[in-house]
Amino acid sequence: MSKLHILIFPAPSQGHITSMLNLAELLCATTSFRVTFLVPAYIHRRLSQHSNATSRLNHLPLRLHPIPHGPHEDIRPGSFDVKDWLDSLSSTAQPSLRELLADDEDPIDCVISDGILSFVLETAEEAGVPVFYMRTLSACAFWVYFCLPHLIQSQELPFDCDDLDLTMVNLRGMEGVLRRRDLPRCCRHGLDSRTMQTIMHQTLQTPRPRGLILNTFDHLEAPTLDLIRTRIPNLYAVGPLHAHLKTRLTGNSSSTSLWEEDKTCLKWLDDQPENSVFYVSFGSIVRVTAEAQTELWHGLVNSGKRFLWVVRTDSGGMEIADGGRGRVVGWAPQEAVLAHPAVGGFVTHCGWNSTLESVVAGVPMVCWPHFGDQQVNSRFVDGVWGIGRDMKDHCDRVVVEKMVRDVMEDRSCEFQRRARDLAKAARESVVEGGTSYYDLDRLIQDIRDVCSAA
Ligand code: UDP
Repeated sequence: MSKLHILIFPAPSQGHITSMLNLAELLCATTSFRVTFLVPAYIHRRLSQHSNATSRLNHLPLRLHPIPHGPHEDIRPGSFDVKDWLDSLSSTAQPSLRELLADDEDPIDCVISDGILSFVLETAEEAGVPVFYMRTLSACAFWVYFCLPHLIQSQELPFDCDDLDLTMVNLRGMEGVLRRRDLPRCCRHGLDSRTMQTIMHQTLQTPRPRGLILNTFDHLEAPTLDLIRTRIPNLYAVGPLHAHLKTRLTGNSSSTSLWEEDKTCLKWLDDQPENSVFYVSFGSIVRVTAEAQTELWHGLVNSGKRFLWVVRTDSGGMEIADGGRGRVVGWAPQEAVLAHPAVGGFVTHCGWNSTLESVVAGVPMVCWPHFGDQQVNSRFVDGVWGIGRDMKDHCDRVVVEKMVRDVMEDRSCEFQRRARDLAKAARESVVEGGTSYYDLDRLIQDIRDVCSAA
């Protein structure tokens, strides 16, 4: 059989691209598959400029394939509308996708689509090409999205925002764990919000493809993975993908940054004492208001801790005075920062990549979630995994100082012990004999079987 040709289509944002490119590299490095990875032209340009992806991928049968993009596709923090984003992508990408799927000279055997791009599923189905889905969020957040119709049916949604501390009773497997405030933020805006409708529509398509790939690992989310399997039996938990890639490509140092990484902060970290620095970053989309940034800054300074803070130039907010104890950068080499011995805590928005990177590095978190899956992840970090504090909805200087002290002083032993244990479990899951290692091999075999039957 000639080399199988897999087409991978991520949604065009940093978090989705990072985890799906990791999966693409893993497939190329461990099989004889060839991968075509679709990205809008502006992302292609930025990956070539700022990451080591193009030189790294030269050694693999992996091609980054630029496609045209529309006016709404480059996520602008603050004015982001998920429906416009997906509609625009669908209308501009579909012709290229159809062309690739109809190319007899270089046929596509299988598609791995981002699970929020149902138009890819539909287009591939029309062309008779088998599809697997990948969702780039946690299993727990996926399950919450999946259960939204049930919460509506049982009249737990919509709710009155007066009492956000009421716990949910109809969320199977998470009764008593999640409060109203821990649901994705769109749940606070009624059922008709565009975001809510779009996300529900996309999520409900998930049982249609051949299987669902998640960037998580069994030890971390076993109960939720079991729940998802009751509705989507063919599930592959293959994460944490960045760690998985490192074990299978021994020592591979991959960067998928869409912004230029300021590596000088690693030198600055070299001069700081062990476990003394809080790393502060809110990922690639969150916009922090000047007011919130001021509260955060005062909280950090009052805690007396050192900090390394990522302030993207497009993130709103204000210039931060770093002074002697702090350092501010525009974009950091995050994985290397979290692995640095000087870093003892992470103030994070709880995007799923950031959360997993912190888990793998064994760094406890102070969570300040903004939207989407972040609200659910932060609840699990605090209330279920016990590796940090969740300060959602209460980011003022007093709370920040208290939480930072909790994580780095008052309860540091407890958080560090749990974080170390989870980091060990994460590493074990991606080596031979581990659950994610096994699931990746199973996925590869299933892709081969599906393609040979097609
Ligand atoms: N990231 C980075 N440098 C930074 C900030 C973020 O490399 O200064 C990376 C981070 O390591 C993670 C990704 O950007 O892999 C952000 O993804 P996540 O899912 O955490 O959040 P999103 O950007 O999707 O909100």
